[in-house]
Amino acid sequence: MSDLESNLAKLAPVLERLRAAPILHRIGGEDRAASNGATFENRSPVDESLIGLVARGTAEDIDAAAKAAKAAFPAWRDVSAEARKKILHKIADGIVARADEIAVAECWDTGQAFKWMSKAALRGAENFRFFADKAPAARDGQSLPSATLMNITTRVPIGPVGVITPWNTPFMLSTWKIAPALAAGCTVVHKPAEFSPVTARILMDIAEEAGLPPGVWNLVNGMGEEAGKALTEHPDIKAIAFVGETRTGSMIMAQGAPTLKRVHFELGGKNPVIVFDDADLERALDAAVLMIYSLNGERCTSSSRLLVQDTIAETFTAKLAARANAIRVGHPLDPKTEVGPLIDRVHLEKVCSYFDKAQAEGATIAAGGTRVEGPGYFVRPTLFTGARNDMAIAQEEIFGPVLTAIAFRTEAEALAIANDVAYGLTGYIWTNDITRALRLSNALDAGMIWVNSENVRHLPTPFGGMKSSGIGRDGGDWSFEFYMEQKMIGLAIGQHAIPRLGA
Ligand code: NAD
Repeated sequence: MSDLESNLAKLAPVLERLRAAPILHRIGGEDRAASNGATFENRSPVDESLIGLVARGTAEDIDAAAKAAKAAFPAWRDVSAEARKKILHKIADGIVARADEIAVAECWDTGQAFKWMSKAALRGAENFRFFADKAPAARDGQSLPSATLMNITTRVPIGPVGVITPWNTPFMLSTWKIAPALAAGCTVVHKPAEFSPVTARILMDIAEEAGLPPGVWNLVNGMGEEAGKALTEHPDIKAIAFVGETRTGSMIMAQGAPTLKRVHFELGGKNPVIVFDDADLERALDAAVLMIYSLNGERCTSSSRLLVQDTIAETFTAKLAARANAIRVGHPLDPKTEVGPLIDRVHLEKVCSYFDKAQAEGATIAAGGTRVEGPGYFVRPTLFTGARNDMAIAQEEIFGPVLTAIAFRTEAEALAIANDVAYGLTGYIWTNDITRALRLSNALDAGMIWVNSENVRHLPTPFGGMKSSGIGRDGGDWSFEFYMEQKMIGLAIGQHAIPRLGA
């Protein structure tokens, strides 16, 4: 049996289950159809076949889920940190036990290649373990004494929260958002992306099997403008953790304004990888190729703009084009595949529209620039050269395996180009001049910067972006800052003078 066949065999029982019955909501520990019985079709981007039906959440469903989360909150808040830690570790164990199933289901649902998704479940489990271990310290505070008062701080969970996730790496992102919320003592209503609902339900089942009490975590599927919108507007939901497009972030902010929602946004990016001629060019090439073509380029931290020094631009982009042409595009369940299909037809058409735009704007297609014929939403890894930063291909998030290369002469020019976009998520700098690396890191508009490295996530570090790339940070204690409220308690040390009115 080939590796592809063995993965297809692992997928078969999952598909059988999904074809037999729709994915339902999970509210207060119970399966629920949509209040009006509505469902929507979920199709695979690999061959456009039907995966199954999914309950299409209504405002009523969101209301039921928010009420369940509200009812479960006091008890979950008051669960001892040690017990909370144990449950979160058990969820991680459950994820590991079902890692193969999660990997193949994620590939089929999203088109992401098994090469990357094979580790998605394990990374998700790591997120749970990391926040499980941090749970006992979540409420810790400071002592800030003054002359008259012993001032102490502590944190309490904010309450029921809404988590809204996108389709690009749905499993990993769901764990990343939900694990810290539960560790902080919040209860959750999760609305996964309509294009990739499969693993969110597996994750939910794992959590309840691990002993998470009913109602602590609720799942409502459906459309963004329906279920998503209702979640952001619900008065019982105290905060919204959102990962998705910048435009959707703006909408959520407006929708949440009447109920003063606290928001955390992880949005789009148009991230520069800046390559100077003194860098280790082989490593820079490996990293640039990895960071745009892995995960189908559907990656918020992708280095979608290559800023390359003019002295090496021609040779560097020629090598890059050769690597792009050699990338294996194919069935996502074949472990040798490096790029799978894009998520859906609309997204495929959006990505392909930039091939014409690039030519109309005067850039050159140095690799790719075509879709792959046949069923499924496949495109060839693409490189545009000879671009200027004012072109749409240099300014807009394409969110596919498409790289725009721009040559620069000086460090100042590289910095100006790098910062001249609406986004500010990540930046990658390749140089062996340490002073230049520090100068640039200081001046780059980006929430995360890697020098002589690809994106390597370390969970205690802050993750998030500036400008149109987001508000707030994930990771380490930053996640707790979002999911918790600070409290200050001032205790009089003695009998300080209290101003007397009307005495
Ligand atoms: P999207 O904004 O279209 O959808 C994300 C989620 O929001 C989905 O669950 C959707 O149903 C929901 N939604 C849509 N409209 C809504 C509304 N009015 N109210 C409430 N919810 C609504 O994003 P997408 O296309 O699924 O994901 C791709 C985007 O996500 C890209 O822009 C990418 O850069 C971004 N992303 C960012 C990060 C990060 O950490 N910065 C990580 C991954 C993805």
